Amino acid sequence: MESIRVKAHAKINLGLDVLGRREDGYHEVRMVMQTIGIYDNILVTKIPEEEIRITSNLTFLPVNEDNLVYKAVKALKERTGFKGGVKIDLHKFIPVSAGMAGGSTDCASVLYAVNVLYGLKLSLKELLSIGAKLGADVPYCLLRGTALAEGIGEKLRRLPDCPQMPLLIAKPPISVSTKMVYEKLDSLETVEHPDIDGICKAIEEGNVLKIASKLGNVLEDVTIPMYPVIDKIKKDMYEHGAIAAMMSGSGPTVFGIFKTPEDAARCQAYLREQKDAHQVYTTEIYNVPGRQKGTRIER
Ligand code: ATP
Repeated sequence: MESIRVKAHAKINLGLDVLGRREDGYHEVRMVMQTIGIYDNILVTKIPEEEIRITSNLTFLPVNEDNLVYKAVKALKERTGFKGGVKIDLHKFIPVSAGMAGGSTDCASVLYAVNVLYGLKLSLKELLSIGAKLGADVPYCLLRGTALAEGIGEKLRRLPDCPQMPLLIAKPPISVSTKMVYEKLDSLETVEHPDIDGICKAIEEGNVLKIASKLGNVLEDVTIPMYPVIDKIKKDMYEHGAIAAMMSGSGPTVFGIFKTPEDAARCQAYLREQKDAHQVYTTEIYNVPGRQKGTRIER
């Protein structure tokens, strides 16, 4: 095999709680993670030269060692010493700096692809441990589906597949620094902690309305006061048929849960007219095919 095409799926957080700041500066979190239907298309090709060549449809993205896919190949080289290079063609659809783990999911997909292409035979456990050093969300992005992430995001517990629900994603044209949001959270006196266990239970029951009623993201308390447009988009979604709407990750992307794909599409048309969000996409929950029957990291 000379090349492999992978789909790097975006995530949303159905729940995000921060328990505190550890001595090493990292934050202890409890997050309910869910992959969705939006993905980056990545073509990974073997090349004989000892190089990591990256091209991307987004001209503002780094194509050097700052790109997380570069770091993925470099980490595999260091771990296994494999000979040869890799060409990576990154076709991005996931909004950047959006709270949707775009870079982390590309990184995870390239770890997976190079492991297969070069026959490195690293186990999922080994890939997870390499991924954890590259970014807190990378291990989850290797796993995908519905999961509870704890620790700094690296301790993962699979949850039953989240039931299907029509989604609308809307990203206003602002970039939010995840690091800054976590730092600001530390200075807030009180925050309302979401019921993470309740969300997990609602997922186990397969109850969409209950999941929708329990969504919660503690980082909204930091990001929304800085960017009120996030709240405006949430309100617009509620007024246009959403049964729930919330910010994903550290923002600024808002996702809405709808009763039907038609409701989501109507709200999409409205938001596009409003122009508060520049990227507005309908999508749905993505669960790994065959996962419930025990399949592992197939793509
Ligand atoms: P998270 O939800 O994990 O906080 P995010 O969606 O907020 O992630 P990303 O889209 O992953 O943020 O990008 C954040 C930064 O990472 C950007 O400044 C971007 O330049 C850099 N970056 C490096 N590699 C990539 C990549 N492959 N795709 C997107 N961004 C990348």
